Amino acid sequence: MSFTLAIVGRPNVGKSTLFNRLVGKRLALVDDQPGVTRDLREGAARLGDLRFTVIDTAGLEEATDDTLQGRMRKLTERAVDMADVCVFMIDARVGVTPVDEAVADILRKRGRNVIVAANKSEGRAADGGVIEAYSLGLGEPIRLSAEHGEGLNDLYAQLLPLSEQFSERDRTDTPETDVSVDDEDGDDDIRVPTPDKPLQVAVVGRPNAGKSTLINKLLGEDRLLTGPEAGITRDAISVQMDWNGLPVRIFDTAGMRKKAKVQEKLEKLSVSDGLRAVKFAEVVVVLLDAAIPFEQQDLRIADLAEREGRAVVIAVNKWDAEDDKSEKLKMLREECARLLPQLRGVPLVTVSALTGKGLDRLQQAIERAYDVWNTRVTTAKLNQWLSGMVEAHPPPAPSGRRIKLRYMTQAKTRPPGFVVMCSNPEKMGASYSRYLVNGLRDTFHMPGTPIRLYMRSQS
Ligand code: GDP
Ligand code: GDP
Repeated sequence: MSFTLAIVGRPNVGKSTLFNRLVGKRLALVDDQPGVTRDLREGAARLGDLRFTVIDTAGLEEATDDTLQGRMRKLTERAVDMADVCVFMIDARVGVTPVDEAVADILRKRGRNVIVAANKSEGRAADGGVIEAYSLGLGEPIRLSAEHGEGLNDLYAQLLPLSEQFSERDRTDTPETDVSVDDEDGDDDIRVPTPDKPLQVAVVGRPNAGKSTLINKLLGEDRLLTGPEAGITRDAISVQMDWNGLPVRIFDTAGMRKKAKVQEKLEKLSVSDGLRAVKFAEVVVVLLDAAIPFEQQDLRIADLAEREGRAVVIAVNKWDAEDDKSEKLKMLREECARLLPQLRGVPLVTVSALTGKGLDRLQQAIERAYDVWNTRVTTAKLNQWLSGMVEAHPPPAPSGRRIKLRYMTQAKTRPPGFVVMCSNPEKMGASYSRYLVNGLRDTFHMPGTPIRLYMRSQS
């Protein structure tokens, strides 16, 4: 029994306050300035014995479509479409305004189940507004005080019959949550995320690379706002989605820089936010702007992801704006190999976040990178491989005594890490290690992923 409730209404009526009450944590921002909370925000809500998902929406004002308000209006429409039931909130102390009427219009056109809530109705000052709320023609309004927690019983009473209706619906369609494990030959153990543990992806990149646009497009909804307006709050830190049954959680680093106002500050912040996101993530998507690829900041973040041992995918965005695509792609591949040798073979995918072109390939690359990151190779295969490598190219012989490689095993996954038992490990040198790492990559199909190689002497 699960359903989604969206709280809609114009700015400052108290939507976030109700959201906080239902979720029980201070996830949403509350502020006296209209329009502070502008993103869709999801939370797991409780009301009595009811459990459901609550969406806190943007406020909206009457405006044309390419203004900020216009886009917020669109966002509200999306929320209504996503929801099973909407709480339409007005400010009972103000009464019904033309903007409220506009929201009511949307709800009449699209909403299935609407509960009208006249908020801020503690005390007598609200009486007039509560009565006015009947005039919206959307049913009997409930008197609510989100701030004081009054009227929640009435909200519960209106929700209960609806929730029974939804659970009836859930019983009749059976969801499929079958996740198959790719384990064909029985020994290479590839782990696949279970439905309750989504694949964690971070999208990192310079400001304006198109991170928000990309995440929006992947979500298929304008869940985050993008654009040049200053002060847009993007504090949705992560969003969850479903790729053909694979649950994926994407960390929105754009959202982590909501407080920055000045451009230079943005540059700095986006690096440290990137660091945070990298730590959360299993797969890091480094989003480049095709017009200015492989800038210093891009390289730093890719290197950081490698050092943190994350799976990496390079996505080159704004590919729609490129003219000579094949020449450009050749150049990009060369630069990638030259500038990121530590991530040899890293998948490089060209995308247009704007048009959505290439996003299916990006999703595949992310899933593949995750699988590679989880690669496990049996000890038998490794040792067979090792003797071949030594035969083809013997280890160095510092001061006349050749280093002996005795034995090898995989010590860890995520990322793959291998231990080589040998004599004089400290004299092995970087180039022989690199030879082994590159050999591992090629033979066991581990492009792009960080690979750790530990040389140990037998004690
Ligand atoms: P939103 O923009 O619709 O999400 O509104 P907020 O939740 O941010 O609330 C706007 C302002 O209204 C804040 O200052 C809240 O403290 C205040 N507020 C919210 N609910 C109530 C209420 O029940 N009574 C009163 N008096 N103020 C409230
Ligand atoms: P963020 O700062 O990385 O989140 O970047 P945004 O998503 O806000 O995008 C910055 C600008 O680049 C916006 O004006 C977008 O419309 C534009 N943009 C994003 N993706 C693309 C794309 O694929 N092609 C083109 N031509 N422009 C894009």
